[in-house]
Amino acid sequence: MVSVLEQLSLYAKKLVQSGLVVGAGGNLSIREGDYMYISPSGFDLQEIEDHQWVKVDIRTGDVLSDLKPSSEILMHLECFRNRPDVHAVLHAHPSYSVGVSSTGKEIPSMFPDFPAMVKNIAYIDYVIPTTNVLAEEVVKVIDNTDVIVMRNHGVLTLGKSMKEAYFFMQLTEEAAKVYTISSIVGNPRVLTEEECEDLKNLSAERYRAKLLKDS
Ligand code: 13P
Ligand code: ZN
Repeated sequence: MVSVLEQLSLYAKKLVQSGLVVGAGGNLSIREGDYMYISPSGFDLQEIEDHQWVKVDIRTGDVLSDLKPSSEILMHLECFRNRPDVHAVLHAHPSYSVGVSSTGKEIPSMFPDFPAMVKNIAYIDYVIPTTNVLAEEVVKVIDNTDVIVMRNHGVLTLGKSMKEAYFFMQLTEEAAKVYTISSIVGNPRVLTEEECEDLKNLSAERYRAKLLKDS
């Protein structure tokens, strides 16, 4: 069994190395019992050492470590408070997702894995990052979605497991990227609602989605 700190460290590196964040952007957290561990504010995520993850009481918000927690702490706390099924929360600044959504458009279904795995995406118009206003906007949509695109800012994903939250992030960014490429080359053909519905109900896809939740 991989410890929560090992998972945080692994996925922090993945976020940076796959270009989903640059500089000191993004943050991630994981639930352990009544507490969450979250990245410290202002760090290059791949440089965080085991003792630097910040422990926070989910109910009270009390910070139990010396380092300052991510400035998006409120957003993460609300995810865990409102969604008992959620064990990991990721926030990144993926270029294509931010680029496409900031035109006011939504990120369309361009390939099967996207509608099969990502059931519902919410969009939030720009609000100042790190504030309780942003956390309140997240709370408004959090019951019905695991992927929240924040226009002109980034993406927030919620997972039953860390791997699931990471796959949601990757898939969202990949869909936005394929849509961008397709728009440059010609006229994108987006999967129809019926095609998406069929994919969601496919037993092969349900198996793959379940595997991810359990991992
Ligand atoms: P932190 O470094 O405080 O986590 O902030 C990064 C970020 O993405 C703010 O939205
Ligand atoms: Zn951010």
